[in-house]
Amino acid sequence: MMLYNIKQPKECVDFKTAVTQGIGSDGGLFFPENLPHFKNIPQLLQKSFVNRSVDIAQQMLMGDLPNEVIKKIVEDAFNFPIKVHQVEERIFALELFWGPTLAFKDFGARFMAKTLAAITQEPITIVTATSGDTGAAVAHAFYDIPNIKVAILYPYQKISQLQEKLFCTLGKNIHTFAVQGDFDACQTLVKQCFSDENLGFSLNSANSINISRVFAQTLYYFEALAQTGLDKETVISVPSGNFGNLTAGLFARSMGLPVSHFVAATNANDTIPRYLSTGKWEPHSTQATLSNAMDVSQPNNWPRIEELMRQKQWNINDTIKSESYTDEQTKKTMQYLQKLNYIADPHSAIAYAGLKAHLKPHQNGVFLCTAHPAKFKDSVDQILNIDIPLPTAIADTIDKPLLSKIIANDYSVFSTNLKTIAAL
Ligand SMILES: *Cc1c(COP(=O)(O)O)cnc(C)c1O
Repeated sequence: MMLYNIKQPKECVDFKTAVTQGIGSDGGLFFPENLPHFKNIPQLLQKSFVNRSVDIAQQMLMGDLPNEVIKKIVEDAFNFPIKVHQVEERIFALELFWGPTLAFKDFGARFMAKTLAAITQEPITIVTATSGDTGAAVAHAFYDIPNIKVAILYPYQKISQLQEKLFCTLGKNIHTFAVQGDFDACQTLVKQCFSDENLGFSLNSANSINISRVFAQTLYYFEALAQTGLDKETVISVPSGNFGNLTAGLFARSMGLPVSHFVAATNANDTIPRYLSTGKWEPHSTQATLSNAMDVSQPNNWPRIEELMRQKQWNINDTIKSESYTDEQTKKTMQYLQKLNYIADPHSAIAYAGLKAHLKPHQNGVFLCTAHPAKFKDSVDQILNIDIPLPTAIADTIDKPLLSKIIANDYSVFSTNLKTIAAL
């Protein structure tokens, strides 16, 4: 597969380069020249998740990696289940949080880690920004992989304690930095590293910019329809922050998966819903919300969505419906779901609310549940008046000391630290 840089379309690279380099010159995102198109969707959906994902990944990456290698990457990366829970008539929760860090980001991060380990023997330093869950997924996916060092930036005191414990207690090749700023400040520091010609070593960003992560996520959209059926039109609602997850869903649709439309559900950081209704790109400053993994006001995957719309000539407002929800609405939705006997975390609840707003009576609806409710125990317990048990993945980290370094929102401070890590 060849991919071009959206900002500089003459820069065209193969899959391995796109994965190792992460981002193109001028900060442009890589975009596939061609994606496969599947005509045999019903047969494809009869297969198990892993077998189907092997087939799809082999089609996407034909010529980039040997089929056996692709098979091994998929099997090793996706070694945990995807569950579907029917919440009410025609409405299904697609639970993507049964991986090691209890959030859907395990799919992309694990697939990327296995892919990188398979394609490179050179030492690599990974720099990534997280608003919570990416950090944990990346840290666990790359933990103890030889030749790979990882630096993770997150906004100081703006992620939950449990989230922090999950990825800032590992040590070894995983280095974590609490930045005195918000998530966008962390993303800016990461971008600065990539344009810094004086660093002197090769960098990779494992965040949702990396195309391998987006590819990994396309695979579970097929599973959504495999488990809920093709008898009705399907609408899929995606709780969105950086819009990597939605990009993946749109890729799946462009490969032939029959999704009627998507709902991009956001919290108060509503750059996209406003953009889709007014046509104006007017990001506000980022607000802290209950669904903090979506506290993003400048979604970094959006250029890919625009590019796909252009390529496929899809009308953006027919393809993507978008809504934003306040914390108050999020709480009410969580309480409503509790009455339906379903405990959802704040992110997943926003997806459900968006789905309800854009589902017609003849359609099936799927909302993506992106985090296990226990991952947001503080707010979930308080809002629902329960005491949700901690899954062992989290419980085991509670007593471990935090190993993060608190740093100022200052590029020279961070780059000095980064040089030290790379030299280890
Ligand atoms: C990252 C994240 C999101 C947002 O996904 P994007 O791909 O950034 O849009 C939603 N929910 C949870 C729990 C997340 O961790």
